[in-house]
Parts: sequence; C-alpha cells; structure tokens
Amino acid sequence: MTATDVGTAPYLDPALPVDERVADLVSRMSVEQKVGQMMQLDAREGIDDQVLERHVGSILHASPEHLARQHELVARTPLRIPLLVAEDCIHGHSFFEGATIFPTQLGMAAAWDAGLVERVARATAIEAAATGIHWTFSPVLCIARDLRWGRVDETFGEDPHLIGELASAMVRGYQGGGLHDPTAVLASAKHFAGYSETQGGRDASEADLSHRKLRSWFLPPFERVAREGCRTFMLGYQTLDGVPITVNEWLLTEVLRGEWGYTGILVTDWDNVGRMVWEQKVQPDLAHAAAAAVRAGNDMIMATPRFFEGALEAVDRGLLAEPDLDRAVARILTLKFELGLFEDPRVPDAARIRACVGAPEHAALNLEVARRSLVLLRNDGVLPLTPGTTDTTGRAVGHGPARRVAVLGPLADDAQAQLGDWAGSSGQVDWMPDGHPRSMIRTVLDGLRATVPAGWSVDHARGAEILTLEPDPEGDRFPDGQPRWPVVVPAPVDEDQLAAAVEAAAAADVAVVVVGDRIELVGEARSTATLELVGSQVALLDAVVATGTPTVVVLLASKPLVLPPSVDRAAALVWAANPGMQGGQALAEMLLGVVEPAGRLPVSFVRHVGQQPTYYNQIRGQHGDRYADLTQRPAFPFGHGLGYSEVVYEDLRLDANEYTVRDTVRARVTVRNVGERPAHEVVQLYVRDAVASVSWADRELKAYRRVEVPPGAAETVELVLPVAACTVVDAAGNRVVEAGAFEVLVGPSSQPEALLTARFEARL
Ligand code: BGC
Repeated sequence: MTATDVGTAPYLDPALPVDERVADLVSRMSVEQKVGQMMQLDAREGIDDQVLERHVGSILHASPEHLARQHELVARTPLRIPLLVAEDCIHGHSFFEGATIFPTQLGMAAAWDAGLVERVARATAIEAAATGIHWTFSPVLCIARDLRWGRVDETFGEDPHLIGELASAMVRGYQGGGLHDPTAVLASAKHFAGYSETQGGRDASEADLSHRKLRSWFLPPFERVAREGCRTFMLGYQTLDGVPITVNEWLLTEVLRGEWGYTGILVTDWDNVGRMVWEQKVQPDLAHAAAAAVRAGNDMIMATPRFFEGALEAVDRGLLAEPDLDRAVARILTLKFELGLFEDPRVPDAARIRACVGAPEHAALNLEVARRSLVLLRNDGVLPLTPGTTDTTGRAVGHGPARRVAVLGPLADDAQAQLGDWAGSSGQVDWMPDGHPRSMIRTVLDGLRATVPAGWSVDHARGAEILTLEPDPEGDRFPDGQPRWPVVVPAPVDEDQLAAAVEAAAAADVAVVVVGDRIELVGEARSTATLELVGSQVALLDAVVATGTPTVVVLLASKPLVLPPSVDRAAALVWAANPGMQGGQALAEMLLGVVEPAGRLPVSFVRHVGQQPTYYNQIRGQHGDRYADLTQRPAFPFGHGLGYSEVVYEDLRLDANEYTVRDTVRARVTVRNVGERPAHEVVQLYVRDAVASVSWADRELKAYRRVEVPPGAAETVELVLPVAACTVVDAAGNRVVEAGAFEVLVGPSSQPEALLTARFEARL
C-alpha cells in the first residue's frame, strides 16, 4: 500500500467518531505494524529504522533535530500514523536548551500550593508542546520512604494527601482544557505502584508490600488521578510479592482498569519487558516476556527494541493472539485521535518556540515558585539580613553601616547543580553536555550580588569540594545499555582552599555557606548508603562556624541530608531542594528579607541515616519510643518551616461534636501573628482515629490552607474535613470509616506538641 492509497480511508476522516476511525485503521494494519505501534524507542538509536522498518508508535528522548525529522519519516510510511513523542518534562522542559527549569517536584511540594504547581505544569506544557512533544512522563506519585533512595527529589514527599493534591494539580496543568488543545500534553502518573518501597534504598529492588499496605498509602494518589482523567500511567520497575509490576494482573486489571475504571494507556518503564528476562529472570525469553506483558494489559513498551521480534515470535508460537495486540493498539490510536494528531501532528513551531520557550512570564513564575519552595528550618534572629525594602533596581535597602557577606561553599555558584536531576546535563540525554544556558540561571552568588544593598560587599570562596569520579571496574554500561555510573570518591580537604574560605568568613559580618549534594549522588541507580554531606563540606562548615562569624547554612540538596553538629551552632539553616533556574535569586531575596520564608517540609529531616524510615505517619505500636543510642525524633518534622514573624495558634473549634459519615467537619482556628513581619502560614489539619479495628497511623494530614497574616493581626481559618475522608483500610483490605471517636489536630507542623486538639464522634 502506498501513502496515496489511504488518502480517502475512513480513519482519516475527522468527522467520524473516534471508535470508528480506530476500528478502520486497526483493520488495515499488519501484525508487524501492530507490534510496532506498541513500541516506544529511544530516538537516538536509529530513528529512521525505528519508524520505517519497525513501525514504532512512539519515540522518547528525541533531540530537536529528531523532533523535526520524525514528521518526514512518518510521511513516508504507508498508513501515516503519527508518532506519540514523549519526554521527561518533569520540572520544566528538561532537555530543550533554554527551556524554563523549575524547582524539582520535592522543591515544588515545599510550597504546599496546588494552584502554583498547576501553573508550573501549564507553563511546561506550553513550552513542550511548541517543540513537538505530546506526552510528558510526569508527575511522580511515589511516596518518599527511605531517604537513601536516589529518586526522593522526584517525589512530592512522604504524605499521600499532599501527593494527591499536587499530582492532581499537575495533571490538570499538563492536560489543560482537553487533549485537542494544541498546548495540552499527556500526563503520566508514575511509577505505578510501590516503586519507592525499596530495600535499603536500593533502586528498583523488590517492594515488600501487601495489598493492604498498598491500598493504605501507596494507591490513593494514583486512584485520584486515574478517576480525574490522567490519560497515561507508567509502571514501576520493581517486583511486588514476586511478580513484576509489568505483569501484575491484580494491580493492572483488577484495581486500575477494574475498580477505578481507568481507560487510558499503560506504558512500561525502561525495558521492563527485557528486564523480566535478563534481570529479574522470571521469563525464559523475549517471546514469553512480550506475551506476558501484552496479556497483562500493557499498551506501550518502552525501550525494549527486541519486543518486535519477541512479540512476533509469540504470535507465531501461539503464546499471543492478534486480538490481544488489537486491544492495546486500539487504546494507543484512540489517544492519537483524541489529541487530533492525524489532523495536526504538532510539528515543532519555530515562532511559538521563540515566543514561549524560556519566556519572561515563565521566568517570573519560576521565581515565584522558587521563593515559595525555600524552607527556613532554624533562625536565631540573624535573618533577615535587611528590613526588606528595595530600591527601584530591586536591591535591598540596608539599615546602618554597609556589611560584608562571605558567600562560601561548592554549591554557591554551581549553576547546573542547582537545577538537579532531569535537566540539561543530568545524564539522560547526550545533546546538552553543557546543560542549560548559564545566563538563564541565577546562583546564590549571583542573587546576592544583585540584591544586597548598594555599598555592601560580597566575597566568594568555594572552600570545599564534594567529589571526584572513577570509572566503575565493572564497565560503563548495564546489559540493557543503560549507563553504569562511575564510582563516587569523596573529595579530601584542600587546606589552602579551606584557609581562603575561613579568611573570607572571618573578615565578614555574615557567612552564607551553600553545601549539599550534586547530580552524581542523585537519581536512578544513584541511591546513597549514607545521608551525610560528602567530601570536604563538613570540614568547611566546622571551620566557618568556628570563626564566630554568624553563619547561615544553605542546604542545597536534592533530599534531606544529615548535618554535622557544627550546624547546630550556626545562626540559621535553610533547605533549598534543587530550586531551579531562579533559585539563587529567590534565596538571596529571602535571606535579605525582600520576601518572607514560606516553604514547609513535605518530607521529614533525619538526624542520622540509621533512623530510616522517618516519615511522620508511622503505624502505632512499638516497645519504647527511642533507640538506646539515639532519639527517634526527626531533626525537623514533616510540615515544619519558619517565617520571620512569630505566630500563635489558638482556639480550635469544630462546628459540632458528632457527625455522620456523610457530614463535613468544619474546624476553625485562630492564627495570630504576634511578630513584626507578615506571616505566610500553612495551617495543617491532621486526623487521629482514637481506636481502629486495625493498626493505623497515629495522625494523617487531611487538609491544609495557606494564609497570609499581617503583623499584629489574627485570622480565623476554616478547614473542612469530610468525615468520609477519616478512613482506615481494614484487615480485609477495604477502605472504611469506622464509627467512634476521632481527634482533629491543627497547627503549623506534624509535631504533636505543636498541634491543638478537638474531638468528635463519627456515626455511620
Ligand atoms: C525512569 C522513568 C523515565 C523513563 C524515561 C526511566 O528510567 O524510571 O521515570 O520516565 O526512564 O526516561
């Protein structure tokens, strides 16, 4: 069949209903074309062959050249089925040079602001769509559990409610007003499900999860976005109770497509099908693996080139029937028709790219979200460094004599490290070895230089290094071709480098030390055994604090890290999860008091790696409440974050003492700002089920509200709690509300002492 033969075929007629177009097109496809349609390959590995010979339905990691070229190739295929072009645009259009890179998901989560996250996703979709991307592999709905896991930065933290709120917002932002909108991109809820429940933080290790535990904490955010119309789900790498997620009938068929009525497509993660053969060793060969994956309901097979031969062999050997392929192919084609790709394949649009990629309004949004993502963990009063008024150029205005600021540390001026994983040169693609343009990124040093009051001086010294790399003696690739990372060697102390930093600190009025982690310690297959600062960073902190100069420690780190005792003697501590291109500017503004600190921890901070796991919503019941040699308390609890003002919570009241399961509890609390600066509070509501039929978390976040309270003012904040949300998962695995007593706990963090309590009775 030639391209012209299909010119009037029904499937090309946009006036026909989608299911008729799908049926017509499927009836014209050969078995090879059907198998190919189910494949998504890495565009860097021979895109011509992939499109013309293997009939692939989708590509990922397409460079700008490939984004344009794929359209020419599709035009040469007999059926001219457009490709779905996918990319990991997970905190911005990661691998398009000059795109806006926002804080990581964990950073955004610290803003506790679904509206803001939705706007970020919308901006990302607008940028990505203009360049010819149809599908982003975002958001991540995994729950942060063991902090040693290398992908904690990609999560929204440790709480299922917060994850659900933010993920739902992100999906809305990506998918926009509907798939026909040319700025909409498909969202992907990943990694379904339980991927983060690692053994000792080891990436993609078997998840030791019961169905009940999944239903309790891991599945609720996924259920929410499935019901709200997230059009694609990506399956985790790991096995669950002995069965790879890829072929987990219970999870995929019974729960996702059955109970939740999900109609979108399932995409495997990278070579999940091949891994069942070469890594997990649960399938004897590719034919069996392909057959099992298709029969379990997978639609798109990512990065398993030999799926083509494997699936064809499976059909030949009777392991797979053509109707099994048809179901998956129909689902993929439905999405392509819904996106309108047959009418408008969304060719990269140079004018749109110029207008929207890295646009000033996206930079402004980026600064807004970066400001909100910073968490002030401790402050002895040294901050803010100025009263916070600015002159016409945006510089802070000082009080009193000019001051000297020493900006120290290996991350004070490291532009690409500030962006974190999945951005430019983070290792997933090869066309941006130098990362994003330096001119688009504001480091902490840049931000302070641009924002300190006129007449102040800013000195800079690195003072420490983090690491060097050595080749892994096992080689530089895994059997599937994925990179095997080099081995991290912690940097030794360089006495001269350290002395220069100490000298700068001693001569300064305040030292700002920026320490943390870098890409070699973050990401897939880059979990860490410890959580300590690597290299000579601890020596730097010890020495700077010892100078007696008030020291502000900025932890610019992908995830919570353990800090040395000297940091307890520092004047202030701020956590900036990789804060994106505007992160340094946002930090400078916060330190100088131009903006108020507003972030709250979406994940608990530990004191010691041996405390893992430290998430706040642990199950009740253990002997004692501390280790013999250490407290079990986190260094900073989930929900914690300070402002520059002092806030008091008073007078928590519920609108009744008794409710039925259909009612909504209205809780009111007074938030009084007794300090002298505006307070940006996140009022948090937790629920405790006094007695449950099963062991359950001591308290769970169920609602929160952001409020701004001017100095001296008091605000009455109302939070609503549907009684139907006060559930446990019973021993049979059903999510139910159990009649009886509940406590509503309201306050500024999950720390029990910080919470006011009110009680109610629930009747069924
Ligand atoms: C990751 C996914 C990602 C995919 C495509 C995998 O290795 O686990 O999160 O979307 O690669 O880049």
